[in-house]
Amino acid sequence: MTKPRPSFFESVQAYFNKAARHTGLNAGLLEQIRVCNAVYQMQFPVKIGNEVRVIEAYRVQHSHHRNPTKGGIRYSNHVTQEEVMALATLMTFKCAIVNVPFGGAKGGVKVNPWDYSPGQLEKITRRYTTELVRRNFIGPSIDVPAPDYGTGSREMAWIYDTYRTLKGEEIDAAGCVTGKPVNQQGIRGRTEATGRGVYYGIRGACEVPEDMKKLGLTPGLAGKTMVVQGLGNVGSYTTTISQDEGGAILIGVGEVEGAIYKPDGIDIHDLLRHRKETGSILNYPGAKSFPKEERNRVLEFDCDILVPAALENQITMDNVHRVKAKIIAEAANGPITSFAEEKLIEDGRLIIPDLFLNAGGVTVSYFEWLKNLSHMRFGRMDKRFNQNMYDQLVATVERLTGHSLSMQERAMLVKGADEIDLVRSGLEETMIMAYHEIREILKRKKKVQDLRTAAFVNAINKISSDYLSLGIFP
Ligand code: NAD
Repeated sequence: MTKPRPSFFESVQAYFNKAARHTGLNAGLLEQIRVCNAVYQMQFPVKIGNEVRVIEAYRVQHSHHRNPTKGGIRYSNHVTQEEVMALATLMTFKCAIVNVPFGGAKGGVKVNPWDYSPGQLEKITRRYTTELVRRNFIGPSIDVPAPDYGTGSREMAWIYDTYRTLKGEEIDAAGCVTGKPVNQQGIRGRTEATGRGVYYGIRGACEVPEDMKKLGLTPGLAGKTMVVQGLGNVGSYTTTISQDEGGAILIGVGEVEGAIYKPDGIDIHDLLRHRKETGSILNYPGAKSFPKEERNRVLEFDCDILVPAALENQITMDNVHRVKAKIIAEAANGPITSFAEEKLIEDGRLIIPDLFLNAGGVTVSYFEWLKNLSHMRFGRMDKRFNQNMYDQLVATVERLTGHSLSMQERAMLVKGADEIDLVRSGLEETMIMAYHEIREILKRKKKVQDLRTAAFVNAINKISSDYLSLGIFP
């Protein structure tokens, strides 16, 4: 008998419906909060060598309850309208959870980016952006893309440059896209933001003694074993920061070429070096290697924390009974199907859901957008002022106590915050506050039994209060 396998979109709908039952809101309002408000499906030609290729692409704006809408652009040959709709839907709830004042959106271009040269990808990106401009689907107050699977700061720079070429008169043009390189109006800390946010989220969850006790674990991230699927932007930063700042022990990794397992620990910097030199994670010294056909074994490795950081629909009814991790931290969007999730919850596993856990990217994108609208780097006005104040304070304490600080101690105490310090502290604060808001709902609402439902309830309530106070036009 074939096992039920909901699509990613169906899983997201199921999660929404499950949470909606706990809100007590009327059916019409819930329907408006659930549906995608605008879907733009396009086909455009791009000249590749002597050939003309017709490229299929999408931009979906899930919710206009706040403007602009916001969400990444994915380059993958698996892109479908349903997938982009699911991702756009998650964006709306993600923004609400971390109190970022945007509606959700997402873009998708159906190409395998690894099949094209940088010059060809630039053509595709510039044409896609032009299509969005023509239909009024991009702009600092309309819809603001960012990187997602298969795209990064390079593509965001091309989008920005195309936009300002077409809309040169707009003073705020740089706010049309986030995740740009720092020298092109980007913000320090955006590239690492999603992974760093995932780290703060996992660390926050591990710090709650009663939740860890239920899993048979001690509180704290330090010393916990971690396995990661996908070493791209999100996976590599999550792993590096969890190891370097959180003391987690990486014991397994999966990538497209296969998987490796080493229960006594893998140094992530050493593994990234090994992959750069050999082109593969396989044959990492001391680790057991699994070939490409068995790469999904990574999901079944024995560990405390499993971090799927690649794509959706990885844990399904086919493999869920072999998943051993006590905590599943959804760095990727939609890595667990709704049926598989039920089984994991029944088994008492802790799932830290995507719509909270990977919201660090959109949080720092929000900071970047604010920087672009203010036309000024964070910290520029107050860093030196604070530094001078702290300097005087330290000098006064030294004079009164007769004790002098070392140069190093003094430098640490008098340092004013720069852009990167402010971005990281803003992100940390956002992730900690959001986690505790969601956990509070889980504790308070007896019928809500998992963090994902609590996260959706939290987001639906916030969005509904916008609709209820603004009214519905006309
Ligand atoms: P990426 O393209 O930088 O990296 C994805 C990695 O996954 C690649 O290294 C790829 O080789 C690997 N991969 C693909 N299929 C795999 C498989 N079957 N097994 C193992 N590895 C596989 O993408 P990313 O930006 O890191 O995005 C990863 C996930 O995180 C996606 O679900 C994305 O939607 C989500 N996400 C990304 C951001 C962001 O800021 N980039 C923000 C929020 C959520």
